[in-house]
Amino acid sequence: MKLDDLGDWRRSHYTIEVTPSIDGEEVIVMGWIRDIRDLGGIRFIVLQDKSGKVQITIPESIVDKETLKKSGLLHRQDCIAVKGIVRKMERAPRGVEIIPKEIRILGVAKHPLPIDVTGKTPADIDVRLDARVLDLRTDRSQAIFKIRHTTLEATRHFLLGKGFLEVNTPKIIASATEGGAALFPIVYFEREAFLAQSPQLYKEELTIDFEKVFEIGPAYRAEKSHTRRHITEFTSIDIEEAFATVEDVMKVAEELMYYVCKVVREKCREELRILKHEVDLPSLPMKRLTYDRVIEELHERNVKIEWGKDIPTVAYRILGKIHPYFYFITDWPTKLKPFYIKPRDDDPGISEGFDLMWSWIEIASGGTRIHKRDLLIKRLKEQGLPIESFKYHLQTFDYGMPPHAGWAIGLERLVMMLTGVKNIREVVLFPRDRFRLTP
Ligand code: ATP
Repeated sequence: MKLDDLGDWRRSHYTIEVTPSIDGEEVIVMGWIRDIRDLGGIRFIVLQDKSGKVQITIPESIVDKETLKKSGLLHRQDCIAVKGIVRKMERAPRGVEIIPKEIRILGVAKHPLPIDVTGKTPADIDVRLDARVLDLRTDRSQAIFKIRHTTLEATRHFLLGKGFLEVNTPKIIASATEGGAALFPIVYFEREAFLAQSPQLYKEELTIDFEKVFEIGPAYRAEKSHTRRHITEFTSIDIEEAFATVEDVMKVAEELMYYVCKVVREKCREELRILKHEVDLPSLPMKRLTYDRVIEELHERNVKIEWGKDIPTVAYRILGKIHPYFYFITDWPTKLKPFYIKPRDDDPGISEGFDLMWSWIEIASGGTRIHKRDLLIKRLKEQGLPIESFKYHLQTFDYGMPPHAGWAIGLERLVMMLTGVKNIREVVLFPRDRFRLTP
């Protein structure tokens, strides 16, 4: 089919702006055909743009021959522009319709489409992800990404309001510094480099320069485990604050969670309705459970975890049933935490690190950091990490390192919980996992 050009047409109204109050006005709307129905003698098109939908009504008796013929060529998901007259019509959705004078076909969709954009026929997640650009047009995806956008907007607003400076640290790094999670090696000219697993060391160093920093950026983990809450490329919301301890930054985290929930509840009512999900306002302060208490609670439910061992997923599932909303787990055994987390002065076997949970899902982790060089070197050695790889990081301890604390929130985990989505891949535009590198 020969496509039309946009020519001198420009959109006069978004579909949402087409209301009964502009009855009789000529408008130009642009978007995609969401649905098309032919009732013999009359044809209905639901046109969708970024603002919403409007009905285009094509009665054979009124519309000119050329436009009628063109409307007969149309299919779902074709991209069109319509010039027409707005008509108040009680029976139409939102009480309004457009009678077209001219239609321009700007882009066509090939049928059959791989998924049903109306969402009436649900598709498997992999089928959806293979046709992701189309899948992102569904009401469900649109709702998820509006909530993701609102979460980011609220987070930035909150942290800027608290005096944090937004920074961007390198994602290509020279050595596999942090230990713990596996890194992705990359070919960097004649050398090997890595994709950063987090901005941890940079953000700590930057407390010397800016005191309070935050970064919202990608983090890469060579996760082999194929779970519904792990991906290999995720977005980390990181803060680091000078002259602060674990308790100070836990307060920032819980206030941020409260604020984000509040804003999403207020701004995303329609999206939450589409997702059939509710977000409650958490009460502050959030529960603070020590690692010991958690072990005890699990013990009472016949899940035995040896002190000093990590908490497995099955146990988190049980904890999530006992504590269905937000709670902190504090006082973790030092050996379970990364080398930069500060051991308690009165009991070095226990750390000043915490995790923030939402039911059974870990949303964030953080704590007071070690700001004394000797202790940091000791901890690096204890964790078997090569001191040479930390040369530049250790050097910054000679520039007046302040006591500091911080945390990292996984944006996708948070959005999963805010949307009630069960698979993290659904809240990422183009997710990456062990088996998926395209589209
Ligand atoms: P987990 O134990 O759940 O794998 P982690 O202990 O490796 O997480 P951290 O290194 O503490 O996680 O990272 C901070 C936050 O980043 C986590 O609380 C989580 O919200 C998020 N996160 C970490 N790894 C991933 C991942 N592979 N996919 C998505 N989010 C992640």
